[in-house]
Order: sequence, then C-alpha cells, then structure tokens
Amino acid sequence: MEAPAPQGDLHVRFANVGKSYDGRVFAVRGLELDIRRGEFLTLLGPSGSGKTTALMMLAGFEDITEGEILVDGRRIDVVAPNKRDIGMVFQNYALFPHMTVEENLAFPLQVRRLPRARIEELVRETLDLVRLPGLGERRPDQLSGGQQQRVAVARALIFNPSLVLMDEPLGALDKQLREQMQFEIKSIHDRLGVTCVYVTHDQTEALTMSDRIAVFNAGAVQQLAAPDEIYERPRTDFVASFIGENNRIGGTVTAVSREGALGVDVGGGQTLQAVSPETGLAAGQHVVLSIRPERAAILEEGKTMANEFEATVTEAIFVGDHIRVVAQAAGGWQVVVKSPNSAARGRLEVGTTARIGWRAEDCLALIP
Ligand code: ADP
Ligand code: MG
Repeated sequence: MEAPAPQGDLHVRFANVGKSYDGRVFAVRGLELDIRRGEFLTLLGPSGSGKTTALMMLAGFEDITEGEILVDGRRIDVVAPNKRDIGMVFQNYALFPHMTVEENLAFPLQVRRLPRARIEELVRETLDLVRLPGLGERRPDQLSGGQQQRVAVARALIFNPSLVLMDEPLGALDKQLREQMQFEIKSIHDRLGVTCVYVTHDQTEALTMSDRIAVFNAGAVQQLAAPDEIYERPRTDFVASFIGENNRIGGTVTAVSREGALGVDVGGGQTLQAVSPETGLAAGQHVVLSIRPERAAILEEGKTMANEFEATVTEAIFVGDHIRVVAQAAGGWQVVVKSPNSAARGRLEVGTTARIGWRAEDCLALIP
C-alpha cells in the first residue's frame, strides 16, 4: 500500500471535468485526475482519446464544459492563460521563426518584465541546461529538429514555471533522436523538480519517462498508476491490450474461492486458474484472460505449473535474447510465448507439440 500523500503534495486536480466541442459529443468526460507536485505524469492513449483536450483545458486554451480544474487548491479555469505560470511545449516546436534562439528564449522573460541583465543570464543558463551553448545567434531554420525541440523545451522552462505541459513533443523526431531526447527531458525534470504533464501515444515513451501514467480511452482515464503497475497489473482489457504484448483468451468464470482465486472455463475442456483486479466476480461472468508472453513458459519435462496445456507450435522465431513461439492450443486459442533462448533451443520445431504453462497470478481475468 502507498502511504497517504502529505498535505500540500497535490498540485493539480481535475474534478469531474468534461469537454464538448459541439455540445453533443464529449471529447473528455468525467475526468478525475490528481497530479502530485514534482511528478512526471504522462497521459497515454490512442489518437482521439482526449489527451490534448485535457492539456489544453489545463493550459487555458480551451474552455471547460463541466467540472473544474484546481491548481494549488485554487480554480484555474477562471485565470487567463498568460497568467497561469505554465510552460508549454508542442509537437511542432512553435518557435518564432524570425527570431534567433536567444530572442525566442528571452521573449517569455520580456513579457514578464525581467531586467535585461537577468534575462541574459537566464538565457545563458538555460541554453546550457538543454545543451545548446553557443547556438543563441541562430534562427530556428538553422537548427536541426532535435535542436529546435530543445529550444522549445528551454523556452517552456526559462521563466521557472511550477508546471510544464508537453504535448507529443518528440513526435516529429526520428527514433534514435527521440530516445535521446526522452532521456534528456527526464533528466531535466529530475534536476528541476518541476511538475510535468506529458502527452504521448507511445507506450514505450510513457513507460520509460513517467512516475505515473494515466491511460486514456474515449475521453476518460482507465487507469492511473506507476509504469510497472500499469504493465504488470492492468485493470482493464483496454489497458492490457494497449500496453505491451498480451495473450487474450476468452472464457467464463466457473469458480471463485474466498481468497479471490478464479477458475475460468476457456473451452475445449480446459479450466485455467486466474486472479482479477475486479472484486465481486461470480460464476457465469464472461471474462478475458490476459497473459504477458514473457510470463508464459515452454515447460520442460517434469515441470508443472498451475496452468498448463498442450499446444502445437506454429512459429518459432529466434529474436536474440529470446525465442518467440506461437502455438495453437487444443482449445482453439493461440498463444505467444517469449522463451529464453537457451532453455528453448532445439525443442521447438514447427509442427511439434509443446507443453505451455503460466502461474495463476500471471493470468489476469479482466472484464471485456
Ligand atoms: P488526442 O490528443 O488524444 O489525440 P484530442 O483531445 O485531440 O485527442 O481529441 C479528442 C476528441 O475531440 C477527438 O474526437 C477530436 O476529433 C475532438 N476534437 C479535438 N479538438 C477539437 C476541436 N477543436 N473541435 C472539435 N472537435 C475536436
Ligand atoms: Mg493530441
């Protein structure tokens, strides 16, 4: 169990926030989200799930249709965007093209009427922070995409906001640069201790950068938790399917023990042992079992597990550190197993029968 958050630890609260652009369909509905001071929180979800809308309401660029947003316990939706003390980074950089890097960085400070000497000092410090010293005289079109995005990050941070919002800031960069920038943004966050709300549709980016992830689907948060919990203990079928690879087997609950262990009939005369984040499951409930491929094992002679069955190997692909096995069970379902290559080698010819197994606690029964 997590310790209760100390008073004052709460930075931003979305309280039952809804947004409709057309008065009929809600892009965000009933959003309840608490953001802690200093945390790196990522809104992760498919395109159109409402992530940008949520961020824009917090930034003040979109009105709220229902509910309210509190920052430090005070309603922010009545405060003008330029008075919110929030830094923003967008996917398309949004630098002023006719200004040099230094002028771009100085702009938010001039708006805030800082003295000139202080502005020069902050511009220098911030260029160092994002590792761009010496490039202050250049215009944005004289920089690479990665450098431009560093300037955008610098500009969002330079006035020392307590809250920074980033909307898919690395979406336009190639994979290698994106990974490097993920690391840099995370390290800047750790050094400054600023609260960061980050939007992405990239699960790997979310898993590697975040303190916590809010998984969005259809305008609502499906689960809010630390990356390992989101991955290991998805609460819904959507979260399990959206993040990481996932074996899904449909079935019907046949037994529920007092400790919450489940028996699930998956067809073909097979019952699997499972656990569930849902309470109150009863016999007859239709569920989807979710098992990560790396939690499934090819069982060696003499080894047994809570769940095991025979399956015909239809694919066995060497992927370096593991072998990816696809097999067809007698019950009709297909499973993917990531098997450590040393153990699995040589026994996994396509067409042969393998015994596959997994633990009850790695077999999550979710409501579809
Ligand atoms: P995401 O950032 O997760 O891709 P968005 O918040 O951009 O999602 O969009 C959520 C929903 O709201 C989508 O159905 C989208 O089409 C709709 N939407 C977003 N912006 C507008 C707008 N300015 N006017 C009308 N509909 C919009
Ligand atoms: Mg978006």
